[in-house]
Amino acid sequence: MRAMVLDAPATPLKERVVPRPEPAAGQVLVEVAACAVCRTDLHVVDGELTQPKLPIIPGHEIVGRVVRAGHGVQGFAIGERVGIPWLGWTCGACPFCLGGQENLCPEARFTGYQIDGGYAEYAVADARYCFPISGGYADAEAAPLLCAGLIGYRALTMAGEGKRLGIYGFGAAAHIVAQVARHQGRRLFAVTRQGDAPAQAFARRLGCVWAGGAAEEPPEPLDAAIIFAPVGALVPAALRAVRPGGTVVCAGIHMSDIPSFPYDILWREKRLVSVANLTRQDGTAFLALAPQVPVVTEVEILPLAAANEALARLREGRLTGAAVLVPGLRPAARSA
Ligand SMILES: [Zn+2]
Ligand SMILES: [Zn+2]
Repeated sequence: MRAMVLDAPATPLKERVVPRPEPAAGQVLVEVAACAVCRTDLHVVDGELTQPKLPIIPGHEIVGRVVRAGHGVQGFAIGERVGIPWLGWTCGACPFCLGGQENLCPEARFTGYQIDGGYAEYAVADARYCFPISGGYADAEAAPLLCAGLIGYRALTMAGEGKRLGIYGFGAAAHIVAQVARHQGRRLFAVTRQGDAPAQAFARRLGCVWAGGAAEEPPEPLDAAIIFAPVGALVPAALRAVRPGGTVVCAGIHMSDIPSFPYDILWREKRLVSVANLTRQDGTAFLALAPQVPVVTEVEILPLAAANEALARLREGRLTGAAVLVPGLRPAARSA
């Protein structure tokens, strides 16, 4: 099969023909129809996440169809459409797994990081961590739901019920969370890179009542803020922007160092929390909610061989919505 492979951190992915994987007991073999590109992939490729299996095939927002099932797989039929997310395996026996926090399992393994992922024509996955993807969404439109969507949803839940919500960094996750938050009746304030007029226009188009640059402060005190951009300097900025008792949620897996800040901006019972990974319960809840909102994903479809280009544009902030790699799309036939 064709795959885009990372041999070493901070080197470009190589397009390569590798053996098609075989499903072990409990695994499904999935023909990849679409795999969205997540900022976490960028952190793996750039070496900011330091424990990848190498070489590794990145990609953890996978939509495809089951072509074979290993011994003992239950719940998935051949030909069924499934989604493969970031959480690929947990121990099932530690206090976190037993306490409803499998996202914090110290033995957890992750798709596209310790398990080969979806920048390929096929992938294998432990069936217990896959989700059925019912109709309504095209393959490429469903792919960003699997991380941008459901980890964004976990972050939104952690932000609490407050009506005035700040969103710091307006990319793939933000564009999905904004739709859910609007559906919940919240007022949204988007903070983008300074001077990023296209991202600000995108945020306003998705219903944000205000969109501005990182040097500006939202015009009203916020009840909560979610930081999607991997920029530590946004933490004190968001703490200043939330009201007493408000919450700041850091939603990314990696962030640059947070500059020191006066205790005064945390005082008055403001809370600063992070979101790590996902549980299967998050996935089930969000995938049921998305069509009811309905969440509409804005995707740019690219051939598999364009993975390096997609990552470069994500790194530079030159993507609107989510980039999605489609192995069946040949470079000559690319769209968008
Ligand atoms: Zn565990
Ligand atoms: Zn992700």
